[in-house]
Amino acid sequence: MPDPKPIHVGPDGTKFRYIGSATTTPTTDTSIKVITVYPETMCPNMTNEEFAKTVMRLRDVAVKLTSTRIANLNRWNADDRAEAIEWFGSDSEEVRSTLLIGLPQISRVLSSLKPSNFVRLSEISSRNLSCDASATNGNTTAAVCKPDTETHTIAIGPNFCEMPDEKKNFDTGQALDGDSKLLTLIHEVSHFNDTMQTGDTWYGIANSRRKAKAGGSIPISTADNIASYVVFAKRGKS
Ligand SMILES: [Zn+2]
Repeated sequence: MPDPKPIHVGPDGTKFRYIGSATTTPTTDTSIKVITVYPETMCPNMTNEEFAKTVMRLRDVAVKLTSTRIANLNRWNADDRAEAIEWFGSDSEEVRSTLLIGLPQISRVLSSLKPSNFVRLSEISSRNLSCDASATNGNTTAAVCKPDTETHTIAIGPNFCEMPDEKKNFDTGQALDGDSKLLTLIHEVSHFNDTMQTGDTWYGIANSRRKAKAGGSIPISTADNIASYVVFAKRGKS
């Protein structure tokens, strides 16, 4: 039955509704079909204009926080070392140099991001991104193809849309534990082969902290440890 209510609002505010289906396929055909509805929004809960504004603002925050971390690594005082231990379980010269080489690359790719770098994690985009080691499904927040250093495409799933932009104390500006669009953005960029080629051995800020405490070499090559380290860089009110 056609639904008289609008089911979709385009980026310019145009409302769309179902007008019925004129497509058939033999009942024996069980293959998955992709039906493209145009215009599609990146997120069901915001217009593409709002999405673009949000990710570009968060890109700028991420670049700033990455710069703070690079400055910390160059300064390398007792606090800076303690934070490296918190997120990577070590303040070794190896950890420090890995970050000093990798973070400027993350910053470079973050700085280059435009709204056109983002695609929906639809049937089509996940096929294009299938070279990502991590499996993508309906619960996937976002995904990239590590070797995609040409376009740095980031595929966005519905979970991303539902996340808070940032998890922070609004009085002090300091980051708080919890998933956010900001954390996800840095997480995804850290995967690319021309940044830090990170993996997804585990997820989550609290988990990353706990795993760092347990030691080993995996935290420095794990996306959420890198993303948490950046997100927790000291910052003022904003
Ligand atoms: Zn990942």
